[in-house]
Amino acid sequence: MEVERLRVTASGTILLIEDEVEIADLLRLYFEREGFRLVHAVSGERGLERARQGDVRATLLDIGLPGIDGVEVCRKLRADSDIPIIMLTARDSEVDKVVGLEMGADDYVTKPFSPRELVARVKAVLRRSEERPVAMQVVSVGGFRVDSGRRQVDLPSGDVVRPTAREFDLLWYLASHQGLVLSRQQVLEAVWGYDYFGETRTVDVHVRQLRKKLPGIPIETVWGVGYRMGD
Ligand code: CA
Repeated sequence: MEVERLRVTASGTILLIEDEVEIADLLRLYFEREGFRLVHAVSGERGLERARQGDVRATLLDIGLPGIDGVEVCRKLRADSDIPIIMLTARDSEVDKVVGLEMGADDYVTKPFSPRELVARVKAVLRRSEERPVAMQVVSVGGFRVDSGRRQVDLPSGDVVRPTAREFDLLWYLASHQGLVLSRQQVLEAVWGYDYFGETRTVDVHVRQLRKKLPGIPIETVWGVGYRMGD
């Protein structure tokens, strides 16, 4: 299923919500060199306020913030937009939080991270969330209509669900390989990219989300291997 992809341009506004000013100064340098504009908010409250202006393409969100923490900020951001969110975590325990809480972040990096890598991650996340197949394509599974043009799912009941960008990519991958057993590693590489160093449990977390949002979607767990989209 070959589709033409739109190129991601390195421009637009990236919102950084981070209380450490040195990190903001460093990142601004790297992002502006690439053509992005980096706006910095020092607290979750200010970040949420800034995000509401509507021009933000992606958000970099520190977990350890004074006032409302990154976890809560992520939930609030997710409640009304699916703009990509990359979490900045300080410890492995925070990574567990990001992955385990299913709060809808698209990716995460652990401090200390390389600014260059973070820029690359942002571009990858933007590519995944903004690329649209040129031709509209629809796959039907078990009464669900998965529409890659509109990036939405029509439920058997007639209701429409719009999963987050990553969830949709995962769903689309499974749906367009209907009937095939796909390993977690295979899914991770196809949906998150070969450059993604995440763990396979990331796949499980997102599958869980899809099952929650799309009750009855025929995603079967294949024990010891991965997943299979039934029909
Ligand atoms: Ca912090």
